[in-house]
Amino acid sequence: MSYRTGDYLAILPLSPDELVQRALTRFDLDYDSHVLLSMERGDTFLPTGTPVAVGELLSSYVELAVPATRTQLGQPADVASDPAHRSELESLAQDRGRHAAEILDKRVSLLDLLESYPSCQLPFTSFLELLTQLTPRRYSISSSPLWSPDHATLTFAVVRAPAWSGRGVFECASSTYLAQARPGSRIAVTVRPSNAAFHPPQSLGVPFIMVCAGTGLAPQVRDTCALIYQEATGASGADAEAWMDEVERTHCRYVADIFT
Ligand SMILES: Cc1cc2nc3c(=O)[nH]c(=O)nc-3n(C[C@H](O)[C@H](O)[C@H](O)COP(=O)(O)OP(=O)(O)OC[C@H]3O[C@@H](n4cnc5c(N)ncnc54)[C@H](O)[C@@H]3O)c2cc1C
Repeated sequence: MSYRTGDYLAILPLSPDELVQRALTRFDLDYDSHVLLSMERGDTFLPTGTPVAVGELLSSYVELAVPATRTQLGQPADVASDPAHRSELESLAQDRGRHAAEILDKRVSLLDLLESYPSCQLPFTSFLELLTQLTPRRYSISSSPLWSPDHATLTFAVVRAPAWSGRGVFECASSTYLAQARPGSRIAVTVRPSNAAFHPPQSLGVPFIMVCAGTGLAPQVRDTCALIYQEATGASGADAEAWMDEVERTHCRYVADIFT
């Protein structure tokens, strides 16, 4: 696998353990309980025809924390045995304004709703069918192949904060997964080329402006700093790379730290 500066990695994460455990608890299932899924018609991203652990289904196949759509509210409303729960869910499904303010803005998931409305005895397989596929996340590579063609660094933000839904703590899926990786961890990744216009120029003789928010600085951190150091000091490319190693080893996390 090789990369160019400015390329990114597509990473297939696992959902956070606590979130998976919440779903298992809601359906009174153990991680290692096995199910055999089959499709009567149509396609599915879920594994069919072979027994699979429900914990694995929940952690590596489906998005558990995305906000519930209005369509997703129909089935839980239908199976709610408590009329108050049924009418509340129907109202949220029918009223666009309420749905936007109370579900989308607060990122209330289907799982959150099933916990809030326990009389909704939705079968586990129906829950799975309503969920969307866990999508790969993209991360700009923040190292240069000049530094090491066999290594890539990522610069990413990890969110762990009170959930906007008001239900416990929100942990972002992919960045939490990456942050928990240890030497030897195996992670499903692939290199994706970025748009050519996203690559830094070969020389500082070509002016360029970087506009970004937060970790958007990631792709150009290393090359840019090395180029600026070379330009300012007349250092060789190798010396500039050694200087970057030192900067990264000590405390520099963002280009902004060097400029200020
Ligand atoms: C081309 C490209 C390059 C990228 N490069 C980088 C990079 O270099 N570094 C990087 O960090 N990211 C990068 N991203 C973003 C990255 O792909 C992910 O979107 C990001 O890491 C979040 O994914 P996640 O699975 O960790 O979080 P998710 O589990 O998907 O959660 C993110 C969602 O949670 C919401 N949220 C935040 N706080 C709360 C809260 N308290 N309660 C409820 N919901 C909340 C956010 O609004 C957001 O909608 C890049 C994206 C693209 C498209």
